[in-house]
Amino acid sequence: MTEAREAREDIAQLSSQAEAWSPEQVLAWAFENYGKNVAIASGFGVEGMALIDLASHVSGSFRVFTLDTEFLFPETYELMDRIEKRYGIRIERVYPSLTPEEQAHTHGAELWRRDPDLCCSLRKVEPLKQKLAELRAWVTAIRRRQTSARASARKIEWDHKFQLIKINPIADWTTDMVWSYVRKHNVPYNHLHDQNYPSIGCMHCTRAVRSGEDARAGRWAGFAKTECGLHTPSNLQAVVPALVGPLVQLKPCVECEEG
Ligand code: SF4
Repeated sequence: MTEAREAREDIAQLSSQAEAWSPEQVLAWAFENYGKNVAIASGFGVEGMALIDLASHVSGSFRVFTLDTEFLFPETYELMDRIEKRYGIRIERVYPSLTPEEQAHTHGAELWRRDPDLCCSLRKVEPLKQKLAELRAWVTAIRRRQTSARASARKIEWDHKFQLIKINPIADWTTDMVWSYVRKHNVPYNHLHDQNYPSIGCMHCTRAVRSGEDARAGRWAGFAKTECGLHTPSNLQAVVPALVGPLVQLKPCVECEEG
């Protein structure tokens, strides 16, 4: 039996049991079982910040990586500096293979305006695939209520798309639970959240939301896109376009813990 198949079968048995665990218990299980072969993926949205703080209460040493598209807000880069100081960690920054200039040269200027799926694939999905290849498990801050693609997320599950264990310790949290945790523990967060940016990604594809809009309305405004591709099950990507027809696309996103 291959190592991946063994891991997948072990996880299938544990998955139901883990649904009753607290985020701290899930993280303790992850760190104990995978040590340096597990890392938290974060775009440093408020959910990610709660998760990093929870991890700091469980372990004095844990890995965090981020997909640095090189198109992030200055506020996000500034937050990374604060995180490194507060938690005594070094964030692993994962870059695309093409610089912004090389991408413009190869694919044309402002690719995100013409083909955001290709842009996300180049700057987020492919770099993530390479990063995950060095791990046995990854931890995300996705929540079931964020998008339809995340509604079936388990706290511990097998990631069929990337072929490793995926751990979602706050899958069952609400937005209120996240913010109440962040306020109670004085957790640092992105200043843009106070300026009507509930979900924060790249500068080119994120705007503030207006009164009455959905929390993710500011992401890829003008496109049917709601996900960057990191948390979209591969089977869903294959099936949904066939169900909804060619005019409505369910396409991948990123910051996507948060995404
Ligand atoms: S969010 Fe926008 S700018 Fe960032 S990688 Fe995706 S399409 Fe490109």
